[in-house]
Amino acid sequence: MEKMTVAEARSPDAAGRSIRLQGWIRTRRDSKGGFSFLELNDGSSLENIQIVADGSLANYESEIRRLSAGSSVTVEGELKQSPAKGQATEVQAARITVHGWSDPESYALQKKRHSFEFLRTLAHLRPRTNTFGAIARVRNQVCRSIHEFFQQEGFLYVHPPIITASDCEGAGEMFKVTTFNLAEVPKQAGQVDFTQDFFDRPSYLTVSGQLEAEIFACALGKVYTFGPTFRAENSNTSRHLAEFWMVEPEMAFYELTDNMDLAESFLKRIVGDVLDRCVDDMQFFNSRIDNTVLETLADVAEQQFERLPYTEAIELLKQSGESFEFPVEWGKDLQAEHERYLTEKKIKRPVILFDYPAAIKPFYMRVNDDGRTVRAMDVLVPKVGEIIGGSQREERLDVVSDRMQQQGLNADDYWWYLDLRRYGTVPHSGFGLGLERVIQFVTGMANIRDCVPFPRTPGSAEF
Ligand code: ATP
Ligand code: MN
Repeated sequence: MEKMTVAEARSPDAAGRSIRLQGWIRTRRDSKGGFSFLELNDGSSLENIQIVADGSLANYESEIRRLSAGSSVTVEGELKQSPAKGQATEVQAARITVHGWSDPESYALQKKRHSFEFLRTLAHLRPRTNTFGAIARVRNQVCRSIHEFFQQEGFLYVHPPIITASDCEGAGEMFKVTTFNLAEVPKQAGQVDFTQDFFDRPSYLTVSGQLEAEIFACALGKVYTFGPTFRAENSNTSRHLAEFWMVEPEMAFYELTDNMDLAESFLKRIVGDVLDRCVDDMQFFNSRIDNTVLETLADVAEQQFERLPYTEAIELLKQSGESFEFPVEWGKDLQAEHERYLTEKKIKRPVILFDYPAAIKPFYMRVNDDGRTVRAMDVLVPKVGEIIGGSQREERLDVVSDRMQQQGLNADDYWWYLDLRRYGTVPHSGFGLGLERVIQFVTGMANIRDCVPFPRTPGSAEF
C-alpha cells in the first residue's frame, strides 16, 4: 500500500495501484444502490478525488453514511480508471478510517458560496475553500520562482534586520518597537528618554531592507532580500497591507536601464511559471474570479513592457480627455486612477515609468543632469497599478548629502550609508516588489487582504 497525494492519484497512469490517501471530505452523495460517493481533498490540488464506498464496508452504516464536509479520513483501496467525466481515476475503498468528525450543524463552511468579507472573519477555516487553497498554492509557486530566478541569475540571498533604527522613507508610517511600560514612559526635559529603552534609541519595524541590501551589493555585487516589511499607513485600500512581504534585489554596476531589464524579465518569469505550473488553479481563477486573467498574464509573459518617462506620461494623461478625480500636474505623484488609465486604456500592457520629479522621491535616488528629475522607475500593471518601485541609487557623496539635507534628514544618522559613497562608491540600482501585489495581479483577486494568509490592516489583527 502506497501513500499518495490526491494530485498524484488523479494522474491516469496511477490507475491499478493499491494506495492510501489522507484528507478531508468535501461532499458525500449516497446512491440508491447502497453505496456512497465521497469527494476527498488533501490540498495537493484544486481538484478532489472521488472515493466509491461500498455498502459492504464494515463501518458503512455506522460511520461512512455520517461523513460530512470537513471530516478527516484515511482511505485505503484500489485506484481505478473512472467511468465518470472530468476525472481519470477514482478509488474503490477497501477501508475508511475516520479521524475527526465535523458537525454539519455548526461547521461554518457550508456548501453555499461565502463572500470574501465573511471568510476574512474565518481566517482559520478559509484555507479549506477552493479559492484560498488555490491562492496558497500560487503564492508558494511565486515564492519558488523568486528564489529560482535570483539564484539562477547569480544573486546572493541576504537578510536585513526587521528591527531598525533608520526611518528611511517611513516618516510617520513606521511601527515603533519598545519595551517601555507605556503607562510610564521615561522622560527627560519633556521628551521621551529613549536612552532608557531597549536599543538606546528610537527603533521601528522595517519598511524596506533596501539600505542594508545596498551595503551587501556594494561588497558582493548582486544580492536580494525577501521578507516581511511593515507600514503603518492608515489607508483602507484594496492594495495596502500593514504587514506584507517584499523582494528587494540590489545590484552593483547596474544603471537604470539594467534595472528595468531585470524587473521585466523577473516579472515575466513569475507569470510564466504560474501559467506553466499552476494550470488548474489558474483555470479556476479565470472562470470564477476574473475572466481576463489568463489572457492578461499570457500578454505579460510575451509582450515587451512600455517604457515611458514620467513627463511624457503626464502629457498622455492631460490629453486623455478623462475626468480624473485627482488633477494631473507635473510634479505630483500619480494616483491609482492614472496608473490604471495608462495600463488598461492607453497602453494596454505593463508600463515602466521613469525619471520622476526629484521632489516627490526619496533622497537616495540618483539625480539626473536636468537637476529636477531622478532615476526612479515604477512598474505598473493593469488593475493593480504599481507593483514594483525602484531606482538607480545616488552614488555621489556630495549629491546624496545635499539631498538628505533638503529632505530634513540628519546625515549623522546615516553615517554608514554615506561611507558606502566615501569608500569605493559604484553606480548601483535596485527595486522592491510587493509579494501580495503580485498574488493579487496573477490571481485577479480584487482585494489584497485575500492574498496573504493573515491580513494585518488598520483595526484588524485577529488570528
Ligand atoms: P504605493 O504608492 O502603491 O503605496 P509605495 O510607492 O509606497 O506604494 P514602495 O515604497 O515603492 O511602495 O514599495 C515597493 C513595492 O512594495 C510597491 O511597488 C508595492 O508592490 C509594495 N507595497 C508598498 N506598500 C505596500 C503595502 N502597504 N501593502 C502591500 N504592498 C505594498
Ligand atoms: Mn513606489
